Amino acid sequence: MDPDVRAELLALIGHLRSYVLYHKELGLEALPRSMQFSQNLETVREELGECQRCRLSKTRKNIVFGEGNEKARLVFVGEGPGYEEDFRGRPFVGKAGQLLTRIIDAIGMKRDEVYITNVVKCRPPHNRAPWPDEIACCYPFLTQQLRIIRPAVICALGNAAAHTLLDTDAGISTVRGTFQSWEGIKVMPTFHPAYLLRNPERKRETWEDMRAIQKELARGTR
Ligand code: URA
Repeated sequence: MDPDVRAELLALIGHLRSYVLYHKELGLEALPRSMQFSQNLETVREELGECQRCRLSKTRKNIVFGEGNEKARLVFVGEGPGYEEDFRGRPFVGKAGQLLTRIIDAIGMKRDEVYITNVVKCRPPHNRAPWPDEIACCYPFLTQQLRIIRPAVICALGNAAAHTLLDTDAGISTVRGTFQSWEGIKVMPTFHPAYLLRNPERKRETWEDMRAIQKELARGTR
């Protein structure tokens, strides 16, 4: 079979699987015949609405849903918006974001080629880590984003992203550097750019992780 057709078919099967799993999670046991495959990032954003599902809604300025390419082969998942992101409604636009942009450049990609989002879409006060119930409220939206995009690789930035996607409590220094899996999608956990700003000596390891991602993307199976 033509490799491009095969890749298209595999992507289609992945989307269908995600779609069915999502409805199963909602409690549906059978899909109505009329149900169309109509989910996209815009409809997920609409579903999120002016979210009041958790306490973070009380202190946020803007929801930071995520941005980038809906067909991205690489998705970055961070922890949650900081001051600058909350102010501008965009992910990773502060100091850590500038470093993330340089990391993306370093693997020969542009920010608008990838997709960037966070575990929680609203800023935790004083930049504290998001609490488990806040993560739980946002998780269905993160899963929908990832299922719609179905990238070749997800890069989990820091503990919150790695713990949420990989269902582990192990620290990022332990889990980084090896591909794992989320719903059949390869996940590379690595250090959060904010951590790298405080600990620049760990940049070498992040570079190794990014090189592994670059190689995986070059295999071009999805
Ligand atoms: N840190 C994050 O985890 N996400 C952002 O969007 C910005 C900083």
